[in-house]
Order: sequence, then C-alpha cells, then structure tokens
Amino acid sequence: MEYRRLGKSGLQLSVLSFGSWITFHKQIDDSLSDRLMGLAYDNGINFFDNAEIYALGESEKMMGRILKKKNWDRTSYTLSSKAYFGWRGEQNKPNQTGLSRKHLTEACHEALQRMGVDYLDLFFCHRPDKHVPMEEVVWTMNILIQQGKILYWGTSEWSPAEIMEAHMIARQYNLIGPVVEQPEYNLFRREKMEHEYLDVFRTVGLGTTIFSPLASGLLTGKYNKGIPEGSRLGLEGFEWLKNRNLLEENVARVVKLEAVAAQLNTSLATLAVAWCIRNPDVTTAILGATKEEQLKENLKALEVYPLLTDSILEEIDGIMQT
Ligand code: NDP
Repeated sequence: MEYRRLGKSGLQLSVLSFGSWITFHKQIDDSLSDRLMGLAYDNGINFFDNAEIYALGESEKMMGRILKKKNWDRTSYTLSSKAYFGWRGEQNKPNQTGLSRKHLTEACHEALQRMGVDYLDLFFCHRPDKHVPMEEVVWTMNILIQQGKILYWGTSEWSPAEIMEAHMIARQYNLIGPVVEQPEYNLFRREKMEHEYLDVFRTVGLGTTIFSPLASGLLTGKYNKGIPEGSRLGLEGFEWLKNRNLLEENVARVVKLEAVAAQLNTSLATLAVAWCIRNPDVTTAILGATKEEQLKENLKALEVYPLLTDSILEEIDGIMQT
C-alpha cells in the first residue's frame, strides 16, 4: 500500500480506501461486510468512509459492529462520517438536517454512538448549506475538534469559493479550516479535480478523498450488454444513478477503454481506479464493493498506475473525447 498526506495536514491515508454507500445493509450483510473490511485492512487500507445518511444510519451501525468484532488498534485506521442530509429520510424535521451548529453537533454525537468509537478522524459537511452562516460551520467544527470528538474536518461537493470562504473565516479567527474535499472523480467526471479546484489545492493545501472511481461500476465494463442481475444500476430506488451514468455514449467509450486495459494485461476496473490515483491531487480513492473479487481486482490498481505512461494517458483522453 502507498500512503499519502492529506493535503497540508499531517494525516496519512492509504491511497485506496473503502466506503459503505449503498452496499452496507442494503446489498451486503454483516458477514460479507466483515470479510470486505478485513480484506481492505489486511491490504493496508487505513481509511473507512461512512455517513449519517447511508442506509439511514444502519451503515454506521454495521461498521461499528464490525469494528468492535475486529478489535483493531484504533490508532491503526481512520474513520469518517458526514452530516447534512440527516438519517430519518422523509421523517426529518427542522434541525435534523443541514449544517447548523445543532445538527452538526448532534450528527457527530449520533455517528460516534452508532459506530461505537470515541472520535472520528474526519468529519465532513456532506454538502454546502446556504442557509447557515459560514462562521457557524467553521466554529462548530473547531469546537468539535477542541472537544476531541473529531480530528480533522472537510467538505464534500463544495464549490472552490465556499471552501475559500471557510478558510478566510478560519484565518480571521485563528481557527482550523477544512483540510479535505470529497468530490466525485472518475474518467467521466474530471472537471472539478482537474480544473475547478486547482487554485484551492495550491492555496490552502487541500487533500481529497475522491468518490465513485468506477462511476458506480460502469467503468468495469459490466454494463456493456445490459444490466446484470443484482448490480447497482439495476437497484430499485437508484434509477437516478442509472439515468446519470448508463448513457449509450458512455458505454461506447467503455468498450474502447477495455482495449487499452487489454494492452496493459489488466482489467478495465483496475485501469479505471489506477487512472484516478495517478493524479497526485488525489489523496485517496474510496472503493466500494459487494464482492471480495471486486475489491481484489480494484486493489491491483496499485501495481497498474505506475504503468500509465503519457502515451497511454493520451490514448485514454482521446477515447473520452469521442
Ligand atoms: P464505485 O464507483 O467504485 O462503485 C462501486 C460499485 O461498483 C460496487 O459497489 C459494485 O457494485 C461495483 N464494482 C466495484 N468494483 C467492481 C469490479 N471490480 N467489478 C464489477 N463491479 C464492481 O464507488 P462508489 O460509488 O461506491 O463510491 C465509493 C465510496 O465513496 C462510497 O462507499 C462512499 O463512501 C463514498 N461516496 C461519497 C459520496 C459523497 O457524496 N461524498 C457519494 C458517493 C460515494 P455492484 O456489485 O452492486 O454492481
């Protein structure tokens, strides 16, 4: 495993990490999740990602049960959660969502309880909240840090302007600003990581924990001939994800990308993850998996990313521009 510093912070994250969105509780049970987390940890993964909204709190509970059983040294791994959407779904009342001091504080306490840990290494604002003053967000995160409930805080899908505003306020009051952004990044979604955030990366030394490196599985080639039974883009309730990713022109590109993977004697899934971590602005790519074979295949990206020469990358760019 390779470890990268999270931006300018002192924290080191494994360049591949593991998350539980959609999979934990909905697709996979305790026993399989336990095996996947074990496989991840045994391969050097030291960052596990979660959020209050994942399976409406059940994903955090499941991860908590597994961590208790594993009894790994708490200092050997890092854990995150995210607040904004709440965990009660349609039952959410005012103050049970968003980034107010009330919700951020309560969401943090609830995540700690559900996961059975004393602190989170990373706590994310899952989305920006234009109804809450930035001072309130920055102060709340700093109070949680002072209380020892979180160690670092970050943002997910915030604009560069919002991240900069948080940093200006932090500077003004001598507080700690967000050290990490969690954006989507994969062969289909490059704009933020490769253009929009560049100034922020350089100015404040932001780290990134990128999500959906396989565009929900599309970049494995598994959807080239329709939707395989039980796979994510066929799940009930996730039609929006299918409509966003499973486009004819995307599948045509995936077919061409498979030829590039074949040249490197690897699979497209491995190549697509490798492509993400070849970008030095990526601190860690968060993997998702419903099977041990998937995780093993994706972990091979560590061996493949050094093989991505300029000419291979140009070939890939050419395919993505068609
Ligand atoms: P991916 O894009 O890598 O999709 C993972 C899914 O693709 C798996 O669950 C599996 O689904 C399929 N898959 C993975 N590997 C393979 C393989 N080798 N062969 C075939 N199919 C494969 O990542 P996610 O979208 O899951 O994102 C990863 C993590 O990022 C999440 O768990 C979460 O922690 C975080 N995240 C954060 C968000 C945010 O807003 N901050 C939003 C989304 C994710 P299946 O078997 O069901 O087809």
